[in-house]
Amino acid sequence: MKNSMKLQFDSRSCNESFARTAIAAFAAQLDPTYDELSDIKTAVSEAVTNCIVHAYAERLNTVYITASINDENVLTVKVRDRGCGIPDIKRAMEPLFTTDTAGERAGLGFAVMQSLCDKVRVRSTPGKGTTVTLIK
Ligand code: ATP
Ligand code: MG
Repeated sequence: MKNSMKLQFDSRSCNESFARTAIAAFAAQLDPTYDELSDIKTAVSEAVTNCIVHAYAERLNTVYITASINDENVLTVKVRDRGCGIPDIKRAMEPLFTTDTAGERAGLGFAVMQSLCDKVRVRSTPGKGTTVTLIK
């Protein structure tokens, strides 16, 4: 483990850009290309937005992020919530699947994370919360 950090913040939509920028600052030590940095920021942004709009749709709560860099310079970012959880993860990760009924969401967040990261892992317990692990 070469380096690690922890972050927690209120599930306010204004904190989505805070999280994205903080992760970018942490990832900067890897000397990423502009594209790599942009991919990481977008993936984190999608995961954090999901915590805000889905996990904590009913009320304000806390979003937790940990990030680490290992000896092989692999970046791992975990975005965790204690929200509603996902009943069927496989289905939730399918492109265009959304539980949004207001027509505001495309159902592409997980697809975007998967296309921009080397690996995306989702653990979730309904009623307890969700952890999304992004590896780049
Ligand atoms: P978009 O990301 O394109 O705005 P979306 O958020 O609905 O739309 P995804 O990000 O792919 O699409 O998520 C798919 C579905 O998985 C969501 O509609 C929601 O039901 C569920 N989901 C995702 N993240 C969480 C989470 N942290 N907690 C609870 N449910 C989640
Ligand atoms: Mg989403």
